Amino acid sequence: MVKIKQTDCKYCLGIESSADDFGVGITDFRGAILANQSEGYLPKEGGIHPREAARHHGDVAPSVLQQALNTAGIKAHELSCIAFSQGPGLGPSLRTGATIARALASYLDLPLVGVNHSVAHIEIGKLTTGAHDPLTLYASGGNTLVTAYTTGRYRIFGETLDIALGNCLDVFGREAGLKAKKGLPIGAAIEQLAQKSQRLIPLPYVVKGMDLSLSGLLTAATTTLQQQHNSNLPDQICLDDYSLADVCYSLQEHAFSMVCEVTERALAHTEKKEVLLTGGVAANKRLQTMLSIIASEHNAQFSVVPKQYATDNGAMIAWTGTLAYKHGLTTPIPQSMVKLRWRVDKVDVPWIQ
Ligand code: AMP
Ligand code: MG
Repeated sequence: MVKIKQTDCKYCLGIESSADDFGVGITDFRGAILANQSEGYLPKEGGIHPREAARHHGDVAPSVLQQALNTAGIKAHELSCIAFSQGPGLGPSLRTGATIARALASYLDLPLVGVNHSVAHIEIGKLTTGAHDPLTLYASGGNTLVTAYTTGRYRIFGETLDIALGNCLDVFGREAGLKAKKGLPIGAAIEQLAQKSQRLIPLPYVVKGMDLSLSGLLTAATTTLQQQHNSNLPDQICLDDYSLADVCYSLQEHAFSMVCEVTERALAHTEKKEVLLTGGVAANKRLQTMLSIIASEHNAQFSVVPKQYATDNGAMIAWTGTLAYKHGLTTPIPQSMVKLRWRVDKVDVPWIQ
């Protein structure tokens, strides 16, 4: 990042392309969200194929960009800066968004601002809920961490040691034969099924210090399912007749309890007065309920990012780009290479006092 002289500017266009979604958002410099358009890539089968996702993003980029400008009611030459998701994420997906952002910035002769995707999830949560200085649980398809601001950066108080919470749900769901549909991600399908059961199957619960591990839980939940479907197994292995709803319910209860335990301990330690839930999994009502109970027990205000800004989106990149730009930060093109493992605690956030 390079410090620049502040000029009189008004709109930032942000490009999000870190994984399966290609999003374009436009915000003004006071925090009004003028557009938030997005197209998601749906794999024919299995998880995200990075090269296919990148091809998808390249294909949909012109129309999503145009829709965003139309929705905001502004022309490209009225923009003041171009922000893009620089990492963390999948290399091919990130590179497609970065290439488009560089091309736009060069063509329009505008400053480029590289944005940390995780910081953007926190900032859009703060903007849309009014949270000021929260302890944040950020849970999505690719990230799961508990973070709060102190001394110049968002510090990590706990995180997953292996897979992310959303990824855990998605992989289990696919093993169970669930398919992501437009408007119904696999995590939401699991949530719907989980509401049909209250039968708790014991599964691994792994919190290590302030970190957690979800891969053993995923394996155990998947194995439990397979045992139900495999009639060749001896009776003593098929202990019980569990339904898919029972396993969905139990998977959620275990996984959400783990992230809540870590969040609660971080809350007790930091004594923050606000708890924010953000990222794609924030749409889950059961997780919202569990976290709101914890917040109230610690006299903290609970807030959750609105659904349309929970999953990856361009508005969060535009808004975080705005914050950075207003504090004199830009990313010259030679320094704009994507950062696949760019951790939240490596990013200076000078806009927070
Ligand atoms: P993101 O990575 O932020 O775009 O979020 C996508 C992740 O959120 C995927 O893993 C989804 O399965 C998950 N997700 C979306 N809606 C829900 C929900 N209602 N419950 C649990 N997970 C969800
Ligand atoms: Mg996504």
